[in-house]
Order: sequence, then structure tokens, then C-alpha cells
Amino acid sequence: MSSNITIAISKGRIFKDALPLLAALDIYPVEAPETTRKLILETNRPDVKIIIVRTTDVPTYVEYGAADIGIAGKDVLLEYSVNASGGNGLGGYGLYEPLDLKIAQCKMVVAEPEKVEPGETGNREHGGRKRVATKYVNIARNYFASQGKQVEIIKLYGSMELAPVLGLADQIVDLVDTGNTLKANGLVVVETITDISSRLIVNKAAMKMKNNLIKPMIEKLTELVEEK
Ligand code: AMP
Repeated sequence: MSSNITIAISKGRIFKDALPLLAALDIYPVEAPETTRKLILETNRPDVKIIIVRTTDVPTYVEYGAADIGIAGKDVLLEYSVNASGGNGLGGYGLYEPLDLKIAQCKMVVAEPEKVEPGETGNREHGGRKRVATKYVNIARNYFASQGKQVEIIKLYGSMELAPVLGLADQIVDLVDTGNTLKANGLVVVETITDISSRLIVNKAAMKMKNNLIKPMIEKLTELVEEK
């Protein structure tokens, strides 16, 4: 039975919110991702290391077993499940998602300019279809299809809020937390697609082979999350 655990986490909001959960598992990284260029962080526990990867790469590292467990936003997991190896968009990919950690909570929404110029309402549609800019192409496509709406989706990699301001798109699909970013760019939420939070994910083989280490971690985290 293997006795080492590798945890994949992205730096920034999720890492910060994950620190108290890691502390409850008696895991303390010896360096912070903001102060080192190292991508493998040692911890106080010789059997546990943390790897720092991009949010969208966390499920890949875990699915292929390069990391045993990971913490990933539901937005990333929903988008990933469609593309994953063996993924069928129904969540049947090579990962377990045993726990909602209730951290990095926000919402996936559809937003558009607060003030559409007079005469512009509806006229901004292109061939009868609205243009929607987003990084979350699969989530947006599934959502609009479920609503019976035909839209043209434009893939962007960031700063989605700019797209309606410059007329690139009529609407955006993006995450909102406080709503400050939307407001600062004159956008308002018109529909909420789903609530988002970060989830614990576990490699299927590791769940079997390292059950002695992983099961107590899941149990402890479950207790903590339920206390919230
Ligand atoms: P806010 O201005 O607080 O509504 O934050 C919105 C910005 O932060 C958007 O650019 C979002 O993509 C990003 N954001 C908000 N919440 C999260 C989250 N939980 N995970 C990742 N990005 C987020």
C-alpha cells in the first residue's frame, strides 16, 4: 500500500480558502505559492506534497493519477467532464467527486449590458441568434440548449466583461462573486445558471490503493464542511 499523497491545487482564491481545510488535516505547506516559483510544495508531512497547477488542469492531473486528490471549482469540473478522456458530459469520467468543500463559492450567470441603447434591443441579434461570449463554452452550450435557445457562442480566455461593452457579444456567461466586476463594466445578471463551489476530487485508483490515507481525509473534511 503506497504511503504518499499528492494534492493538486491552483494558486489564488482556491489555495487561500483551502489552507484552513488542509490545516485541519494537519497539512501545512512549508512555502506559499505567492513567494516561491516552485510548483511542488513540500509540507510539514513527509508523506504529503502539494502541486500548484492551473485551475483547469487540476482534473487532468487527478484523472491521470499524477495527483491523488485535488481541489477544483465546479465550473472547471462541469466544463472538463465533457472533454475528459472517456467523458460523456454526464460526469462519468475517471474521477470521484466525493465532497462539496463549500469554498470559493460564487454563481455562474448570464449577464448583459444594463442599458441597451434605444432601438438596439433585439437588433443586436445576429441572424436571429444572440452572441454569447464565454470561457465556459460547454456549460453555456448545454444551458442555452436546455432553455431551447439558439445562440452563437464565442470562446474567450478572459476579460469576458469587455465583450458586450465593445459589441463583440450581446451577453456573457461568467462567474460572479460580489458582482463588482459586472457593475464596473455596466453589466447586470439576467439569469443564474448554477451555484458554484470547489469540490474535492479523487483519482479512482488512488481511492482504492491509498484508501488508508484518503478515507480519513474525506471523513475529516466531511465533518468540517457539515459544521459550516
Ligand atoms: P466579483 O467582481 O466579485 O463578482 O468577481 C468576479 C470575477 O472574479 C470574475 O472575473 C470571475 O471570473 C472571478 N471569480 C469570482 N468567483 C470566482 C471563483 N469562485 N473562482 C474563480 N473565479 C472567480
